[in-house]
Amino acid sequence: MSEQWIYLNDQFVKKEDAKISVYDHGFLYGDGVFEGIRVYDGNIFKMEEHNDRLFRSAKSIMLTIPYTKEEMIDLVVQTINKNRLKDAYIRIVVSRGVGDLGLDPYNCKRAQVVIIAEPLSIFPKHLYETGIEIVTVATRRNRPDVLSPKVKSLNYLNNVLVKIEAHLANVSEALMLNDQGYVAEGSADNIFIIKGNTILTPPGYIGALEGITRGAIIEIGKSLGYEMKEEPFTRHDVYTADEVFLTGTAAEVIAVVKVDGRVIGEGVPGENTKKLLAVFREKVVSDGVKVYKEAASNIG
Ligand code: PMP
Repeated sequence: MSEQWIYLNDQFVKKEDAKISVYDHGFLYGDGVFEGIRVYDGNIFKMEEHNDRLFRSAKSIMLTIPYTKEEMIDLVVQTINKNRLKDAYIRIVVSRGVGDLGLDPYNCKRAQVVIIAEPLSIFPKHLYETGIEIVTVATRRNRPDVLSPKVKSLNYLNNVLVKIEAHLANVSEALMLNDQGYVAEGSADNIFIIKGNTILTPPGYIGALEGITRGAIIEIGKSLGYEMKEEPFTRHDVYTADEVFLTGTAAEVIAVVKVDGRVIGEGVPGENTKKLLAVFREKVVSDGVKVYKEAASNIG
């Protein structure tokens, strides 16, 4: 990318000029919400679903986004076009805004909105061929009745701790359990296990984010004739599954071939996971909002 433009509070600024106050409550207290969205070949995958989740998250924490839903979609499109991208990862961040050092959000007069678009691939390409190894970690998913995982808030500290634990174990991703020991999710992805023709993922109340990719895979799985179930399961069920995979906007669909030292299936990405990934890759270019045609034609 030659020059990167960031959308920051009603205007585009160069990446090096995209700065916010140290009194922003997102910085001081993790007070805000965000979304991660993907653009595939000029198609913003599930834009409306991501936008709806952003506005739901904001509503839940009583944060007023200073744009309508339609305006937000338009701003995302503009950010992609401004950066002349066809394939990109988009990050929307809405923080409570600038206040004083005190906690009180009522001192923050206006939410700050940042939109960043850049090329991204979270896992190196070869890992989609080989699958990844993961471990379960000591960090537990926060309880839904304490801080709901349905709110995609800027409070990602336990997800960060999971990443640290993954590094310490020398693996690329790790799995959180909930407070009762049921499998919840990865640091930034949902988990699925396959047993025969049945594909399971933990239900929202276990303490997982209701991922947009997760939703897409549930739809795809149903259309391919699998029995899709949202049901709690334990580490034992993961260890003994035929196949395991993770889903997320950044991660897409990635096979897991080893969990806590237990080899899953044959130790390579399974046929069912590969089938789901293939259909997912077809869908991502058709199921969303198109980046404007006239601007898309400028994209080099
Ligand atoms: N869980 C967590 C904690 C996440 O941060 C993400 C990434 N947004 C996911 C799951 C996957 O959700 P999605 O498919 O909507 O990206």
